Amino acid sequence: MSLKIDIVRCLSDNYAYIIYDTYSKNVGVVDPSEFDKINTFLEKKYNKLDFIINTHHHADHIGGNSELKKKFNSKIVAYSGDTYRINDVDIKVNNNEIFHFGKTKFKVLKIPGHTSGHISFYSSEEKVIFTGDTLFSFGCGRIFEGSYLEMFNSLKKIKSLPKDTKIYFGHEYTVNNINFCLSFDQKNIFLNKKLEEIKSNLKNNIFSTPSILEDELKGNLFLKANNPAEFKKYRELKDSF
Ligand code: ZN
Ligand code: FE
Repeated sequence: MSLKIDIVRCLSDNYAYIIYDTYSKNVGVVDPSEFDKINTFLEKKYNKLDFIINTHHHADHIGGNSELKKKFNSKIVAYSGDTYRINDVDIKVNNNEIFHFGKTKFKVLKIPGHTSGHISFYSSEEKVIFTGDTLFSFGCGRIFEGSYLEMFNSLKKIKSLPKDTKIYFGHEYTVNNINFCLSFDQKNIFLNKKLEEIKSNLKNNIFSTPSILEDELKGNLFLKANNPAEFKKYRELKDSF
């Protein structure tokens, strides 16, 4: 195990992640929403930033890219197909490629649906995945550019990972998400307990990220949906929940 992860809350409800490879001493940030919060954190802890890693092109995930790159001379890592809407990409990655972050190997998994070029970064050794706006804790992202079927298949990919994989997701929507799941699954004891646990944690500034895949499989309606039609029904209802 050579990866350390710090969570930085950004904007109103975004999460950015500072990652550190203890072997190579590489420092990275996944989805820097804004410059200031990330910069303040980095100045205190590492005073360098080797890689800026983006899951997708939305402003709340790349907003800090250019200022951070300028200050720290970092390399931007993003999906090869999105370079027309993510500026100054240095390392263009594709589905199933390995991105070497020091000793930590991240497999790039393409998971379209929220956007057409959405990717995730998965390390089987470290048992972590950065899912951006595709999988949230007890929810999933809105479908902006893909089809319901694409999103269903993207979630299926994540579902097939080992159950002890930690999910680092892009937004703190967990309480609302659990309430939605509970509206179809009132008697789910696990979800009811989770709701109370997460509410009290958030009051004490303990974040709900990362989640564990095993827990998501027990309660996340979007992962429990058995077929694309069922998934579509839940996703449409959630859009106006
Ligand atoms: Zn997004
Ligand atoms: Fe987002």
